[in-house]
Amino acid sequence: MATEVRFKRVLLKVSGEALMGAQGFGIDVAVADRIARDIQSARKLGVDISIVVGGGNIFRGVAVASKGGDRVTGDQMGMLATVINALALRTSLTKIGIDAVVLSAIPMPEICESFSQLVALAHAEKGRVVIFAGGTGNPFFTTDSAAALRAAEMGVDALFKGTQVDGIYSADPKTHPDATRYERLTHDEVLNKGLAVMDVAAVALARENRIPIVVFSIHEEGGFAAILSGGGRATVVSD
Ligand code: UDP
Repeated sequence: MATEVRFKRVLLKVSGEALMGAQGFGIDVAVADRIARDIQSARKLGVDISIVVGGGNIFRGVAVASKGGDRVTGDQMGMLATVINALALRTSLTKIGIDAVVLSAIPMPEICESFSQLVALAHAEKGRVVIFAGGTGNPFFTTDSAAALRAAEMGVDALFKGTQVDGIYSADPKTHPDATRYERLTHDEVLNKGLAVMDVAAVALARENRIPIVVFSIHEEGGFAAILSGGGRATVVSD
């Protein structure tokens, strides 16, 4: 049943770190299942949701580059990691009866569909959750940039960035307990203050396409739906 919501169509960025839970590596299925239930609650509000998943819980390209390896190969390994996470999230969604499809920026037809904007929009039109894997398909980018890119391509009303904390702070609140939390910011303020919530390319792309960014805690059960309903805790970045 559709109720009054703040945004009708959103893209959710789920980092690899979020899927890892308390483990130091890999996927905690219980966490993936809980995120799936949060997505289910948000869908019950009548919100269309698509997802970009990260891969940092498995691999980051910089890890190879920092040890003298080839950055491009490292980034390709990172992009493959996002496909693993996307399959895990699809499994969690499917288990609770949500029709979900994985579209990869890097074709691997035996495993999932390949990304194209038209295919993605067609799936969304049929009420499916579209999970974008493989980042942008290019090295030297991040899945935050992929999230801003897919958000623009899907024509969403907002990009939800699930993080470890409940919004954007002036400094990392885990290491700076006196850091202040922002309620609202503009895209320019995020860039000018150098707030490390998303990379510069992602914020600039969202700004250019006038896409609000909603930063919230992915670990707060029910938080996603609460924000969509007009409550909850988040920092909203918009112009
Ligand atoms: N990556 C890439 N191009 C992209 C997106 C991701 O090369 O468009 C690689 C990059 O190596 C990155 C890794 O995939 O470190 C995992 O993505 P990310 O670090 O964004 O994941 P998250 O921090 O969200 O878990």
